[in-house]
Amino acid sequence: MSKKIIIGNWKMNPLTLKEAEKLFNNVAKNVSGIKKTEIVICPPFLYLERLKKISKKINLGAQDAFWGDAGAYTGEISAEMLYNIGARYVISGHSERRALGESNTDVNKKVRASLSVGLRPVLCVGESARDENHGYFNFIKTQLEECLAGISKNSISKITIAYEPIWAISSTPNRQDATSDDSREMAIFIRKILSDKFGPEASQMRIIYGGSVNEKDAEEFLKNGGVDGLLAGRASLDAKKFVEIVKTCEILSK
Ligand code: PEP
Repeated sequence: MSKKIIIGNWKMNPLTLKEAEKLFNNVAKNVSGIKKTEIVICPPFLYLERLKKISKKINLGAQDAFWGDAGAYTGEISAEMLYNIGARYVISGHSERRALGESNTDVNKKVRASLSVGLRPVLCVGESARDENHGYFNFIKTQLEECLAGISKNSISKITIAYEPIWAISSTPNRQDATSDDSREMAIFIRKILSDKFGPEASQMRIIYGGSVNEKDAEEFLKNGGVDGLLAGRASLDAKKFVEIVKTCEILSK
């Protein structure tokens, strides 16, 4: 099994390269002793090239990658361009992109394009609300099936599934806390969908949790949430909090 993984999604922050370097440096200088935890930071595209030069320990990820290879796609950035400047991971299908109109079909094309150039997709799935009839399980099943359509067993070890219930994400108005039980229940369900689709090889895929994770509840999610890591948004903009999450994961991996 791969190492556990902690991913920071900086979203559209910070506003300057100088601040990005400072934040990244403050993480990098405090994780030199980390051995059993994979660390990934996903800054805005613009900062990737510069941050790549700062640390070998921290993997860089993009927050999106377009599905076309090159050509007349104004404003888009291809997976290959991202790989060429040093990104090794890419977030695919984040709920904030889906809210801007991205469909499961678009996400599937992006996952496939990313895999084809060696980028490791972090495929985000998550329901906007929980209904009494548990319809959200079917919603997640459809997201997984449509976003992973046509992907071969040979590639699946490169894919991480991030369960991110939208109702728990820090930017959601009137958000609610998810518990480690919510995470564990869904991780078990996702594991079952993946193994029905891909067979025993599906156990190579990491499943992680994201949704307002912080330095205080990271231990609970890692111990009891049934996951192989965490995706942190807001907490990743504070180097101290992010490093604490990484160190919690490291201790639990011993
Ligand atoms: C996210 O949106 O990917 C995320 C995990 O955000 P936050 O931790 O801020 O809820």
